[in-house]
Amino acid sequence: MSLKISNVSKMYGANIALSNVFIEIKDGEFVCILGPSGCGKTTLLRLVGGFERPSQGLIYSGDTLYSSPDRCVPVERRNLGMVFQSFALWPNMTVRQHAEFPLLQKKYAGIDASKKKSLISQTLESVGLSALANRYPDELSGGQKQRVALARAIITKPQILLMDEPLSALDAELKISMRKEIQDIHRMTGATILYVTHDQSEALAMADRIMIMRNGEVEQAGTPEEIYLHPRTPFAASFVGKYNLLRGIWDHDLFYEESSNLCFQGQMIEPELKKMGLFPVRPDEFQIQKHGNGIPAKIKNRQYCGREIHYSVESSGRLITVYAPVRESYKLNESIVLIKKDGMN
Ligand code: ADP
Ligand code: MG
Repeated sequence: MSLKISNVSKMYGANIALSNVFIEIKDGEFVCILGPSGCGKTTLLRLVGGFERPSQGLIYSGDTLYSSPDRCVPVERRNLGMVFQSFALWPNMTVRQHAEFPLLQKKYAGIDASKKKSLISQTLESVGLSALANRYPDELSGGQKQRVALARAIITKPQILLMDEPLSALDAELKISMRKEIQDIHRMTGATILYVTHDQSEALAMADRIMIMRNGEVEQAGTPEEIYLHPRTPFAASFVGKYNLLRGIWDHDLFYEESSNLCFQGQMIEPELKKMGLFPVRPDEFQIQKHGNGIPAKIKNRQYCGREIHYSVESSGRLITVYAPVRESYKLNESIVLIKKDGMN
């Protein structure tokens, strides 16, 4: 089912949680809302879920008006499933009872018991919980708990799935494997997914399209590649691609860096950043050398990360992040120069 969030705003007293948000999501699309804490992500999901009304604007599912300032289709009449950050499981219910719970609603009363039973088995199977059906939440790991929440969200085959930071309570390795499971669920159900996260790598890895949110507004929307390779604002550049923003003067497609006499080619840089006198350079686009014609800098921090070393280097009073291969090792306080890998004159 398609979803349209049309010029939606939400005020809490004088506090503006969402401002004029417009998002159109195609049927079956996986859209990530990506932004830092407090930018309005949960508020947006609560509005789509029908837990609150917008102060302004409209929300449609297909052609059905779900929300407006004076209309709110109740949660149980919206064809959607929700997964929360906190799992939200009931301590006194087993895995099977959690999966069964949505089927107890009146609207499913007509489905016979044997059909419900096989639907529960299928759903538990699809999230890998068949063997744990009789366990209680306190007998499950974090990943298993989140799978219970997923089973409960998908059992009624909703056409829209809302997920609010579903992986943030899991450890790093589990996060990566649960990403694959969520992608599998997307493929299996064909549901439209609105997925909220503050983790840029999660959004880049899973989304068909990313909406970067900041201070209640959509800052940039695009495919993961568009957002990563062509950020249009300083925030999008630094939050998603971890870009360093060099300052200088643009002359058409040539950029003159302010602290050195260096000139970079920048045909691909977005005009919005050019207007601000900024040149975004990702940490992997710099190369560190001991000498040469580059931006002079000093190593201030190093972190060994296995495949590469992450350096913080200081140049003219600002810190620049550089990812370098492990074979190139530099010491703290060593003076170096930064070269941009391509496009330097
Ligand atoms: P996120 O999920 O991106 O961290 P939220 O949507 O939870 O952000 O919050 C967005 C803003 O709205 C925050 O400034 C938050 O304090 C405010 N806010 C959220 N819910 C309420 C509420 N019920 N009453 C007042 N302010 C709220
Ligand atoms: Mg939140």
